Amino acid sequence: MIPARHQDRHRESWREELAEAITDPAELLGALGLDPALLTPALAAAARFRLRVPQAFVRRMRYGDARDPLLRQVLPVGEELLDAEGYSGDPLGEAAANPAPGLLHKYHGRALLVTTGACAVNCRYCFRREFRYDAQVSTGGRWRAALEAISADPTIEEVILSGGDPLSLSNERLGSLSGSLASIPHVRRLRVHTRTPVVLPARVDEGFAHWLAHLPWPAAVVVHVNHAQEIDAPVADAFARMRATGVTLLNQSVLLAGVNDDEGVLAALSTALFDAGVLPYYLHMLDRVRGASHFEVAEARAQGLLRGLAARLPGYLVPRLVREEAGAAGKTLIPLSTPPETCKL
Ligand code: SF4
Repeated sequence: MIPARHQDRHRESWREELAEAITDPAELLGALGLDPALLTPALAAAARFRLRVPQAFVRRMRYGDARDPLLRQVLPVGEELLDAEGYSGDPLGEAAANPAPGLLHKYHGRALLVTTGACAVNCRYCFRREFRYDAQVSTGGRWRAALEAISADPTIEEVILSGGDPLSLSNERLGSLSGSLASIPHVRRLRVHTRTPVVLPARVDEGFAHWLAHLPWPAAVVVHVNHAQEIDAPVADAFARMRATGVTLLNQSVLLAGVNDDEGVLAALSTALFDAGVLPYYLHMLDRVRGASHFEVAEARAQGLLRGLAARLPGYLVPRLVREEAGAAGKTLIPLSTPPETCKL
């Protein structure tokens, strides 16, 4: 139960910031002094997947720079409208791994709860950009069905709160959810996947920190940072508030052309994460979702980037390069190089 004093004090600040997020491409282009010619394709692409970006994230973008790596992650562009072979609306086959509405069970021992369809930011490369949240979001009775499915499967030891972004929920809703999970004896770990602390650091308020600190299991918060420029002082402070609760903080990134497909950029990201108390965990190859093909980085190039990173940094700062494949029993770890044929090890 979250004490009332933690429920209310900061509620307005992050809710207000969320409500003030930019959703109009013209406003975003105007705020950054960008070429108005970008507006027509932006409007066309936003009609398929809406623009949404909090002001706190926009403030970290470079004024007048259409190639800014943070802007590229959120600005709708005409390339999203091109058809690309191998790209689909459900690249991970999640529709086939769905034992109950709101529950995805792809990997042994872990189940993912789709807590909400809402995100503080709409990332253009999101593999769930066409996800049918209306049929899946765990609200009301649907949440109950997902919890019953977890309860009925004793192999599920870890629950991952995902979405959308679980930090779009109020602290009370998070408390109610963890309270329900606490009554399932075989659940032993909780993981929270969230990008909100990065784009809206005010969301890590006292109530959320209280919730984290009082979870009845060891917990990991997996944040999502793709570029060191995303970590400014308020974000570092938000990470510090989470770490102070005792949770493990990890990061997963997506390898994105024009954003972080550069050895120096990836090295700067790893060191900035570590400075902020977060360990680099996964670097994901792009999931081939329709509308995101312009972010693709070839696997051979990704391997080369990671080899360069491994030569520069200690092992704990080199994320694991992975790809998710529909129907696979786990993430596919991509080796940094192909062993020579003579190698027997
Ligand atoms: S925050 Fe995560 S779920 Fe939401 S749009 Fe971005 S990548 Fe997708």
